[in-house]
Amino acid sequence: MASAKKSFRINTQLVHAGERGDTPLGKPVATPIYATATFTYDSMAEVDQVFAGEKQGYIYTRYGNPTVAALAEAVRILEEGSVACAYSTGMAALHAAIFACELEPGATILASQDLYGASIDLLYKVLGSYGIKTETADFSDIPALSEKTREVRPRVLIAETISNPLLKVCDIDACAEIAREARARFIVDNTFASPYLCQPLKHGADFVVHSATKYLGGHADVMGGIVVARDEVDLLALVGVMKLVGGVLGVWEAHEILRGLKTLAVRMDRQCENAASLASHLSGHGRVSRVYYPALAPAQNLDLMKRLLRPPHAGALVSIELQENTREAAFRFMDALKLCVRSTSLGDVFTGVLHPATASHREMAPKRRLQLGITEGLVRISVGIEDIADITEDIEQSLEKSD
Ligand code: PLP
Repeated sequence: MASAKKSFRINTQLVHAGERGDTPLGKPVATPIYATATFTYDSMAEVDQVFAGEKQGYIYTRYGNPTVAALAEAVRILEEGSVACAYSTGMAALHAAIFACELEPGATILASQDLYGASIDLLYKVLGSYGIKTETADFSDIPALSEKTREVRPRVLIAETISNPLLKVCDIDACAEIAREARARFIVDNTFASPYLCQPLKHGADFVVHSATKYLGGHADVMGGIVVARDEVDLLALVGVMKLVGGVLGVWEAHEILRGLKTLAVRMDRQCENAASLASHLSGHGRVSRVYYPALAPAQNLDLMKRLLRPPHAGALVSIELQENTREAAFRFMDALKLCVRSTSLGDVFTGVLHPATASHREMAPKRRLQLGITEGLVRISVGIEDIADITEDIEQSLEKSD
């Protein structure tokens, strides 16, 4: 009804005038934002056909929306998967990937002990309440992981490409082999690498999960999550959880993330270069006792890094442990920063710092945190695209105030 008939009265005209005009000639060059909750058809017979799946079409945005679908398709292509589905956040996406593994009460998930804190909480607190057990293991110790897999016989293995906050690169090929032998499915959270640096499906993963809030969006102005599956049959479950749990991605958010994706490579190249430069500058610094950065890892890890990540990159995160390894020193350092932003996220165009012990790993028992090497003086730096000289100078001047 492009222009409601003259005979309609003002209250009716206000509701309908100008709406549902003909599809314009000419294809938009950018994906339009389909800000609509529902879709209408010329006849009920057509609606029925779409509901029945006999005809392709959209019905209700919780079931699917063209803007959101365009984003899922873009990430599917980048990850070289078969199917993909977008969700409201990275957490919703991880939940959907686990749901697609069709676990029953009593089933066990074997998760990397280094997983993002909230992911661990999701496993224990939410899935645990449905009778699904979680065990953790050090996924960087392949023989121990293999042994643990034989012992607990998991249905699902979950790891992150680059661990948080100690930035260990996961040997996805080796873990996938272990999962295959155990007939378990393997989920890889690829948030820290992005598909520009790593494509876990090519290394044997079954599902890739992204918090699109991070590198894919890249500008700290949107939240989202994506799952890409290697196998087409998983689409039904991925769409099912979207429809029934309802954690759908909004169309505005999908548009923002689509826009962010276009500059992913350009941002990543600069961010990784800046991170490499910062990491080498900080190693050997008098006020820093340890620098965590994949390219500074022992030789064995360098081979792994080259196999998994796009050369010459090693990611855009750097974690440092302060010489005075206390929370007070970490806070003094972070408070003194003038350019770098104290920010509970990563992957943005600006350099952001986070204190893992009080942020991403806050819920973890202090003893456990220490066992994992997450000390009170550890600070994670997500390096941005600013001029590296400015980033380095800011960190330098703040380090002077850390003790
Ligand atoms: N996975 C990783 C590795 C993360 O760092 C985060 C958030 O920090 C998430 C998943 C969750 O993403 P979101 O905050 O978009 O739910």
